[in-house]
Amino acid sequence: MHSRGKPLSSHSSPALSCALLDADSAMCESLPMILVAGSANLDFVIRAPRIPAPGETVLGHSFNTYPGGKGANQAVACARAGGAATSMLLALGEDSFAAPIEDSLRGAGVGLHLVRVAGQPTGAAFICVSDRAENAITVASGANHALGPKHLPALDGCTHLLLQLEIPLDTVTAYAAAARAAGVKLVLNAAPAQVLPRELLSLLDILIVNEGELATVSGVPDSIEGALRSVDVPCVVATLGERGCCARQGARLVTQPAFAVAAVDTTAAGDTFCGVFVAALSRSADITAALRTASAAAALACTRAGAQSSIPTAAEVQAFMLQAAQ
Ligand code: ADP
Repeated sequence: MHSRGKPLSSHSSPALSCALLDADSAMCESLPMILVAGSANLDFVIRAPRIPAPGETVLGHSFNTYPGGKGANQAVACARAGGAATSMLLALGEDSFAAPIEDSLRGAGVGLHLVRVAGQPTGAAFICVSDRAENAITVASGANHALGPKHLPALDGCTHLLLQLEIPLDTVTAYAAAARAAGVKLVLNAAPAQVLPRELLSLLDILIVNEGELATVSGVPDSIEGALRSVDVPCVVATLGERGCCARQGARLVTQPAFAVAAVDTTAAGDTFCGVFVAALSRSADITAALRTASAAAALACTRAGAQSSIPTAAEVQAFMLQAAQ
């Protein structure tokens, strides 16, 4: 069986168990349970006046390393949002990049289903953040690409599975099929952008994309509403950066403006949005409330440097939303 503080080997097939409240199984049973299966990277971040053009060298201001990766960021966002037990299936190398990633996830209260991969480096991302808070990211997937269908834990008790596209597409599709078979709500953040096989789309309950990803997935580049309506998934959410987000649930469209903030680093804004949105839905929030809470959390993440280090707690999000309402 799973859990906290005890890595699992790649050959075990553990059932999910409550990641946050191991000691209190009674409370644990009443909590929704979210599994995030996806990537974990160490981010190498240089802040610079601007993002270099091809062939250009730009002298930066500062350098830092931060735990990141879309899957791990979203798991941290789910866990900090509270109200659900969050665990993550991830693959790390046997190198020194792995420990800060594990520490960050455990520190946020995420239970780990950890696949240790020999002979592959832990995933790494090289990120340039400009003075205008734009970013450019290159990812070396390393161990993340070793995550395969056999590594998915049993989904007993799991209410939501949250996936992204930084692990192999065949693995994502196999996990999606397992979630559907187990009656688990399936949410895909289709990032980085790629055209999705019809088989995968047909398994989704919710698709979350940014504007570019929406154009790629839908093949409709010039109309957000047209694109949202053209994708055959029950609920599609499009995040639009500082213009906020909109969603189509069935035939209904919902929009949510962005919260006004002084953005310093938008890294992980989308990941924060995804994790907090799924955590809100798992607590039975309706889509309007879930979009608002996710937008507030994502805006707060834009005001802080780094990926997981920038993701706010539920209390911070509540205080920010109260302040914004005044
Ligand atoms: P991604 O990072 O995946 O490209 P977006 O840029 O669309 O995603 O950002 C995700 C969400 O983060 C947006 O829908 C919005 O709620 C919030 N957000 C992003 N940039 C800003 C900003 N400058 N100010 C306030 N909120 C922002």
